[in-house]
Amino acid sequence: MNLKLKQYINGQWVDAKSGQTRDIINPYNQEVVATVPEGDDVDAKEAIAAAREAFDHGEWATLPAIERSQIVRKIANFIERDREELARLESLDTGKTVEESRGDMDDIAGVFHYYADIGDKNGGEMIESPMPNSISKVVHEPVGVCGQITPWNYPLLQASWKLAPALVTGNTLVMKPSEITPLTTLKTFELMEEAGVPAGVANLVLGSGATVGNELSSSVDVDLISFTGGIDTGKKIMQAASSNMKNLALELGGKNPNVIFADADFELAVDQALNGVFFHAGQICSAGTRLIVEESIHDDLVNALVERVKQFKIGSGFDDDTQMGPLISAEHLGKVEKYVERGIEEGATLAVGGKRPEDPELQDGFFYLPTIFTDCTTDMDIVQDEAFGPIITVEKFKSEEDAVKLANDSIYGLAGGVFTNDIAKAERCAAKMRMGTVWINEFNVYFPHAPWGGYKQSGIGRELGKLGIEEYTETKHILQNVKPEPLNWF
Ligand code: NAD
Repeated sequence: MNLKLKQYINGQWVDAKSGQTRDIINPYNQEVVATVPEGDDVDAKEAIAAAREAFDHGEWATLPAIERSQIVRKIANFIERDREELARLESLDTGKTVEESRGDMDDIAGVFHYYADIGDKNGGEMIESPMPNSISKVVHEPVGVCGQITPWNYPLLQASWKLAPALVTGNTLVMKPSEITPLTTLKTFELMEEAGVPAGVANLVLGSGATVGNELSSSVDVDLISFTGGIDTGKKIMQAASSNMKNLALELGGKNPNVIFADADFELAVDQALNGVFFHAGQICSAGTRLIVEESIHDDLVNALVERVKQFKIGSGFDDDTQMGPLISAEHLGKVEKYVERGIEEGATLAVGGKRPEDPELQDGFFYLPTIFTDCTTDMDIVQDEAFGPIITVEKFKSEEDAVKLANDSIYGLAGGVFTNDIAKAERCAAKMRMGTVWINEFNVYFPHAPWGGYKQSGIGRELGKLGIEEYTETKHILQNVKPEPLNWF
């Protein structure tokens, strides 16, 4: 592996101060693919100090935006150059198919290009001042030192949503990837060094959430914390971030409804119901795991899904014909198994799956069969809780009003879909669905130009799009009196 297996602090590639390391495991066969430093709060403090110094006394924050944009553009170009190596690393780390990882790398390069494009067009504006003889302008400035914490399901994609807008707007940062999937983020820090990001501006600390993550969230020297991960962790981070009233950006989980009306294109709805969930074995925050289906087509749709699911090719992400890889870890596999047991206890009907595959070649990996539950109701845990695995639950509805009510019956509000050929009906549903993204006759599409984030407990703030830049800027109003005179009041 042509990769520096170190942390990156103040422009130096370093081991953990404690000397501790962690083995990174391939979820397909449990082989150790790399051994990386296991940093802790001591390493995190050093990285925060480097980022603080680079922000307070370095040139990065005051560099002309166009120069930062040029560096971000180089990172995009290097990701394109090293696409295949990055994609293979991502698949080694996560188990997802290399074809999916290649798609991720294209999306990631697209994110860096997008922010390189718009990063120098954020200069602020003159506003009409109601005060005579004054000039009033609004400018956007970097927030400061950013702590960035990412999950294991889309390791580099989630990192890119944070790195690109933070860098282009002149912030400095300390990133902590998930401790189980750090490899592509490591590689990208090499690319950022090659692109000319100055020492101290971008720092990488590896290690657990309880140590490194907690230090980033609670340190009074960090001005903003941007986190992607689960709700429970998000709550802890929010509490820790209150130490100095940090700016907060939280991208949390989802339990996303996919509403299918009887007048939808049947084949399209079947295809997208599967695409919506089973990429990366369902480990997607926006997976459409709650199918909400009009009663008259329920049985036909379920039968069609079950038939298709039985044909899935499950295996190594490095085999060309594999459609679905393993889950990320033994711990996560155990969690998914518990959710399925709970679904059965609650009275949901197992239509297909519900167990590990029997194929002897898959026994070393964390595989789980694609699973569909029918006879589901919104009071069930299997419908309400984010299992984050290859599981669909199916609920029935009779009217448009019921469909929207079911779709909104969740603490989450990340994303959802509507399938129908009646566009007026689709628009009515989209308007009433309380979530950050609604797809019509589509599922799981996102791009850098459109904001991404959640209503309700799915998060605070937005990544991507222009709003993704606003997360990383403070807005300042500067008023100049051009003919100052004393008031003579006091
Ligand atoms: P997680 O919350 O367990 O961990 C995410 C990150 O937080 C990891 O880097 C972890 O080390 C760190 N962490 C853990 N405890 C911490 C603490 N006390 N303080 C600071 N950091 C801490 O989530 P996960 O299991 O890695 O990822 C899956 C979750 O991420 C799912 O809920 C999924 O929906 C969510 N997710 C959301 C989006 C989105 O865009 N909304 C995208 C991807 C994943």
